[in-house]
Amino acid sequence: MPNTYIGRFAPSPTGWLHIGSLLTAVASYLDARSHQGKWLVRMEDLDPLREQRGAASVILSTLEAFALYWDDTVVYQSQRHHLYQQALSRLQANNQVYRCYCSRKTVQAEARGEGIDAMVYGGRCSLLPSDWQSESGKKPAWRVRSPSKKITFIDAIQGLQEQQLDEEVGDFVLLRADGFWAYQLAVVVDDAVQGINHVVRGEDLLSSTPRQIYLQSLLNLPQPCYAHVPLLTNKLGQKWSKQTCAPVLNLNQREQLMRQVFNYLQLPQAPAVDHIADLLQWGVEHWQLERVAPEPINTETEYLSNLSH
Ligand code: GLU
Repeated sequence: MPNTYIGRFAPSPTGWLHIGSLLTAVASYLDARSHQGKWLVRMEDLDPLREQRGAASVILSTLEAFALYWDDTVVYQSQRHHLYQQALSRLQANNQVYRCYCSRKTVQAEARGEGIDAMVYGGRCSLLPSDWQSESGKKPAWRVRSPSKKITFIDAIQGLQEQQLDEEVGDFVLLRADGFWAYQLAVVVDDAVQGINHVVRGEDLLSSTPRQIYLQSLLNLPQPCYAHVPLLTNKLGQKWSKQTCAPVLNLNQREQLMRQVFNYLQLPQAPAVDHIADLLQWGVEHWQLERVAPEPINTETEYLSNLSH
């Protein structure tokens, strides 16, 4: 049986969709459908503290409003803790992870002392005996040991990527001390369990990919093909997000927004259509991933003129 393309869109329900998330959703949809593939939606709702109430259902109804219909049922990461636990247990059994009692402050202070990036963990707790317990009863985080080797892969849009994990990232967290699963572990487990073989997502996740490839190798999971679409930025060059006050998508302007997104994705000018679904279908028929340029796109002008606040 030929290997069916399976792609996905994996929003975090921390806010409504904005133009940047629409771009990612459309790119992953067009790539999947133009390969006669499946397109799944996974809600990455692992951190209730960052979630916005009602965002998950608004995201889904927004996708439907743009005729971005998904296959199968939506998967919610909040219901899949057992799968992440299984993966962690396997890494524990192979001594590839260790408990870490360091607070964020300790990690940062230590890193500053060594003159390295504050996000690179120095590995202090990896030296503790495995049966060591914190006297205060503090719960540990679990970190995976980073290898001292370069992880390389070819991104279909951004080209050759290399990262020396131990120097550039350090041992990274899979289960946080507050009991929440880290994105890096959950995404790897779910992509594998859902049979995802093509990941098309935003360029902000490019630097996470080597960590995910490394975890796939430890867990003996297949590595999907990756394509990271360019970020859309405001006039200060910042990624549109909740933090940079990205305007909410105006559903009365769906066609203009979709045309705008097509333009960012280097599709040719689409003809007049009666319905948004026809426009999307036209996009599927004309989609060429190779045409998408890797550079960030400054969108302030067109974007704001298309939207109401
Ligand atoms: N949930 C992530 C986000 O909304 C995307 C994760 C992924 O596509 O791997 O940024």
